[in-house]
Formats: sequence, C-alpha cells, structure tokens
Amino acid sequence: MTKAKIDLHNHTYLCNHADGSMEEYVLEAISQNINIFGFSEHAPMLNFEDGYRLLRKDQDFYQNSILELKEKYKNKIDILLGYEVDYIDGNYLEESILKAPVDYLIGSVHYLDEWGFDNPEFIGEYDKRDIDKIWEEYFTALTNMARSGKFDIVGHLDLMKVFNFLPNKSMKELSFDALKEIKKSEMVIEINSSGFRKAPKEQYPSANILELAFELDIPITFGSDAHKISQIGLYYDDITLLAKRIGYTECISFKNREKIKYNF
Ligand SMILES: [Zn+2]
Ligand SMILES: [Zn+2]
Repeated sequence: MTKAKIDLHNHTYLCNHADGSMEEYVLEAISQNINIFGFSEHAPMLNFEDGYRLLRKDQDFYQNSILELKEKYKNKIDILLGYEVDYIDGNYLEESILKAPVDYLIGSVHYLDEWGFDNPEFIGEYDKRDIDKIWEEYFTALTNMARSGKFDIVGHLDLMKVFNFLPNKSMKELSFDALKEIKKSEMVIEINSSGFRKAPKEQYPSANILELAFELDIPITFGSDAHKISQIGLYYDDITLLAKRIGYTECISFKNREKIKYNF
C-alpha cells in the first residue's frame, strides 16, 4: 500500500470567510509534500442562509477552477474536488450538489434547527439551552446524516465542543449510536485538526470517540479545515500520531466517490 500525506478538508475565498487564492493553497500543499489535497468548499444550500458558503452561481466556477488546478499540477500533487455539505435533518439539501461530479462529499452538522452553534456570533444561545439536550440533538442529527447515505465523510465529528461547552454525560455513550450508524453507512471519519486552533486545543473528534471508532472498524481520513494558507497541514503530525497511537495504520482518500486506502 502506498504511503501518502492527505488533507481533504480545505476551503476557498468563495465561502466569504476564508482567504487566499486556490492556486496559493495548492502551492502551499506542494511545499509541505502533501500528496493528496482536497478542496471541500461549504456547499450552496437550498432556501438557507448564504452568507457563509459558496453561492449557487459560483458552483461551476469553483468546480472548473479546481479541475484546472488538478490538471496544471498533476505531476506534483493529486488535487481532489469535494464539498462540505451542511446536514440539517434532511432539509435544505441542494440536488445539484448531491449529484455533482465530485470525489467526495463531507457531511457536517453546524446547525441545530437554524442555530449556527459553532459561530461565535450566536454563542449566547448556549446559555438558553440544556447542555446535555443539545449534545443529544447534535448526535441525533449526525445519526440521521449517516442514515441518509448521501455523504462519504463525517466532518469534525464532535464540533459541538468548539467553545468547550461539554456534556455531563459520557461522550462515548452520547456518540455510540451515531458511530454505529456511521459504520453501517460505510462512511469515513475525518480527524480534523482545526480544533487545535480553537478553544478545545485538540482535534475533532476527541481521542475517546476515536478509540470507539477504531473498535468499530470505522476508517479515517485527515483534514486541516484550512480557511487560510497558514492553516494548511497545521497539526498534521499531532493528528497522525494520535491515529497511530489508537491503532490506525490506514487512512482513506477518494476518487469519484470510491474509497482508496493509503498508509500514512
Ligand atoms: Zn468555514
Ligand atoms: Zn465545517
């Protein structure tokens, strides 16, 4: 099996909250000896807020720009085309994204109802809700996302810890049903290093969830969730070391939504 350095979660300026040109991202990835680099822009949604995502009108431009870069740098790096799609219990999904000619789709829960719980603007909402209940609702949404069968990768699996509002219940217990459904749907969990840049100061998901994922034989991949050039590949060593410590020796990349195994 080939060994590869993989980063499948990267944004572009087209989502309105990231900077740097796509080509600069690719050049930085090459300079870090990343072998497989995937763009996964926040996808357009149907009848939902569009302030933090690619606009529907820019969808072709995004896809074509990445395919051009893929061709231009094919001798140096394997560039993949993907989307990070918001899962909000079955609603707001845009068919043109679900059917787009991508290598993979990341399914992510960033909203409960319409509350963007990872957005600092709406942090006040945590005071109004019951902490265990929102964690339960969060994992229920993840379970339903896995059950939908529409996505390949689970994005930042325990994102709800973003501001360190943690549940009183055990995380393993809270996440167990979602993990079983992820296993059943043959999805891959990303180890996302962006949590190191935020309050948790660790990757998503936490080590105890990853241990459970390993026991259930759920495959993994890696993502930096870069919204800036300087975030590409950041904490890659930390997340790969952790994966190895837990027992993982393989990670997954995708081509046309088919899994390909690598060592890391
Ligand atoms: Zn983002
Ligand atoms: Zn995300």
